[in-house]
Amino acid sequence: MRPAQWAIRRLPPGLIAFTLLVELVAVVLPFLLPGRPPTSGDWLRFGVLLVVGVAQAELSRRTERQRRFLASTVHVNMTSVWLFAGAVDLPMGLAVALTVLVFGHLWERIWRQLESRPAHRVIYTATTAVLSVLPVRPVISAATAGLPFLDPDLRRLVAIMAAMAVFFATNSVLVTIALKLRYPDLTVRELFGGWDVNALELATLCLGALTAIVLMAHVYLVPLVVLPIVVLHRGVLMRQFQEAATTDHKTGVLNSVAWHDAAARELDRGAEFGVLMIDLDHFKRINDTHGHLVGDTVLREVADTVCDQVREVDAVGRFGGEEFVVLLPGAALPDAIRVAERIRTAIADLTVSEGSAAVSALSASIGVSVHPTAGAVLEQVLLAADNALYEAKRGGRNRVVSLLDPA
Ligand code: GH3
Ligand code: MG
Ligand code: MG
Repeated sequence: MRPAQWAIRRLPPGLIAFTLLVELVAVVLPFLLPGRPPTSGDWLRFGVLLVVGVAQAELSRRTERQRRFLASTVHVNMTSVWLFAGAVDLPMGLAVALTVLVFGHLWERIWRQLESRPAHRVIYTATTAVLSVLPVRPVISAATAGLPFLDPDLRRLVAIMAAMAVFFATNSVLVTIALKLRYPDLTVRELFGGWDVNALELATLCLGALTAIVLMAHVYLVPLVVLPIVVLHRGVLMRQFQEAATTDHKTGVLNSVAWHDAAARELDRGAEFGVLMIDLDHFKRINDTHGHLVGDTVLREVADTVCDQVREVDAVGRFGGEEFVVLLPGAALPDAIRVAERIRTAIADLTVSEGSAAVSALSASIGVSVHPTAGAVLEQVLLAADNALYEAKRGGRNRVVSLLDPA
């Protein structure tokens, strides 16, 4: 065991108090809620779910380990398939035991060796899973009892969807609160994960619901679910890798390679497009006055500001340092200059606060060029934008320049 994995000293006290409270509730609640004693069929279903859960985790070991290369905070747990099926079909005590055993196995075999999954985090994740499992049976019973007039299958559908919603909401809310307490600066998207992540969690629960039906009807067919889950899990990781490989980590915009790819695609279409090259003025002074961390925050906020000023189809990239580029598909020179002016003004209006520092009076110089006026190949277009940027600096900074003939 690495000591770092048990190090909770650096966590905010509010987070520690909140997680301890949630954990206490998760330990006590299963004893307070009514449950029925398991039958021999329940034990068989419990055993099957445990075996397939362990098998899936074993087959996904490599994928789980590779996650450590990703900085993303949101982690979709495909084990919900087995936990949700257990929550639907098993008595509460067995459903909780299944959850604890599946997480215990994941911890022992995979997460324990990963710095990114410290013990307190795994315990909290398991806790949220237990608390998500608990309301499933009561919700199904209530929905079933409350809709006697519906066709039995429709009633089952409504009940299962209500149970999925409660499972999903319990888990999301508990994870989001803890993340917000741990990282107060996270944006809503970072807290909740994108549409992709949530759709995947819902897809996992749909498979869990189908597994629950197979479990009751043909218990030995349940292993058929394992491979789809393993493949889905791997596919998700690939997509996350792809995103990480094209993103500039400091600012969240495209990195240089990805921006060049986007520009090359535009060039292949043979269409007109604009290029803005943006360089912050006297940025070194900001670092010198406020330090590098504040400088980094300024870079992030400038990147956000640039993104706010352009369309969804425009590609914003960072060429390193304090230099950004924007690709404006379909833009002629006057359009590109107009966008550049808008960005320049927005940067000038920006005030960035970080701790006790407040940085304002920022400015940027912007060079503008367009394809094909500036040249047929990308290097020519970039060179023209760079020359224009140089002229903007020479002319006194905080201005937009294009060296192309506006005619
Ligand atoms: P100019 O108006 O001529 O562009 O002046 P400048 O100070 O912005 O330009 P210069 O290129 O001389 O300096 C850029 C500075 O940007 C130097 C470096 O300290 C800083 N810088 C580059 N990358 C980063 C980064 O990732 N984070 C921070 N905080 N600073 C960076
Ligand atoms: Mg600069
Ligand atoms: Mg520079």
